[in-house]
Amino acid sequence: NTRILLASRPHGEPTAENSRLETVPMPEPAEGEVLLRTIYLSLDPYMRGRMSDAKSYAAPVEVGAVMQGGTVAQVVQSRDPSLAEGDIVLSHLGWQAYGVQPARQVRKLDPQRAPISTAVGVLGMPGFTAYAGLLEIGRPQPGETVVVAAAAGPVGSAVGQIARIKGARAVGIAGGPEKVAWLEELGFDVALDHRSPTFKDDLKAAVPDGIDVYFENVGGHVWDAVLPRLNTYARVPVCGLVAHYNETEAPAGPDRMPRLMQAILTKSLTIRGFIQTEFVKTHYKEFQKDAAGWLADGSLRHREDVVEGLENAPEAFFGLLTGKNFGKLLVQVSDD
Ligand code: NDP
Repeated sequence: NTRILLASRPHGEPTAENSRLETVPMPEPAEGEVLLRTIYLSLDPYMRGRMSDAKSYAAPVEVGAVMQGGTVAQVVQSRDPSLAEGDIVLSHLGWQAYGVQPARQVRKLDPQRAPISTAVGVLGMPGFTAYAGLLEIGRPQPGETVVVAAAAGPVGSAVGQIARIKGARAVGIAGGPEKVAWLEELGFDVALDHRSPTFKDDLKAAVPDGIDVYFENVGGHVWDAVLPRLNTYARVPVCGLVAHYNETEAPAGPDRMPRLMQAILTKSLTIRGFIQTEFVKTHYKEFQKDAAGWLADGSLRHREDVVEGLENAPEAFFGLLTGKNFGKLLVQVSDD
């Protein structure tokens, strides 16, 4: 079995030295457990947080432990009556080719229903994050303007499309002309490149009636451009701040806090952070039904960026934090 460990904690951008590939004997399942072969490993921005020991909503990965991650895997050996050899499951094996998990901690997938990789993408955690954060906190109304950044990623692309399904205007922000072109193809009303020197003015022109919902995925210079455009009673689901994950010190420049607090007060803003798990009980069932329907009727489209081979996971992950991925980033660890 091969697996990737956290070798040391990164300072700033993670590098090759922070991870280590090792070969170990095959694990053996105990009663009630299954031995699984990883097919897809999902790479997600939250993993940067797990590499760090700064206090957060989840415990860090210990140095010397296998990196965590969601996986789509196949049962190789089952010691539980609920699963049989050959079954495909959603699991959390982390960055390893094989692993053992209690059968009750995995969810069996139906490969006839949708391609199995969607269980960690549009029909899984990222899709659900978009759905719950947008509908529960953002609450877009028909005709309102919804803006989302990292819009070519799995969360952002779903946010914009669900906003359109709900009758709102969707403005997507992404890095580079290829991603912008894809957002236009998806039906975003306007797509903008945040790397363009005219980005601030482009955003202003794209939201003539201001912004009613800003789904925050990145922070940084995008947030700086968005804040002055927010309307009275705008809602801001704060989902992620990927522009800051590799930061080692406070950004240069003047203290922005007074201007932010003043905007919150005078525009009666609702700025509400969330971790998707809080909505699982209340919204997951509804999400699965809605998302499967939208996927089937073509109103929700998605894109995957598949990297071959577990050994290439660290480099692919570093690229995720700087926009090198185009779509949901997956590692194909073995054949499906
Ligand atoms: P993506 O695949 O969208 O990857 C992140 C993207 O962020 C990059 O591709 C890049 O796209 C963009 N980005 C990186 N740096 C910057 C920057 N400085 N300025 C602007 N954009 C930048 O990831 P996901 O869709 O999986 O996740 C999106 C966000 O949602 C993340 O912040 C993540 O942490 C968060 N999240 C939160 C959850 C929750 O429960 N709260 C659950 C799941 C995800 P580009 O090339 O377009 O710049």
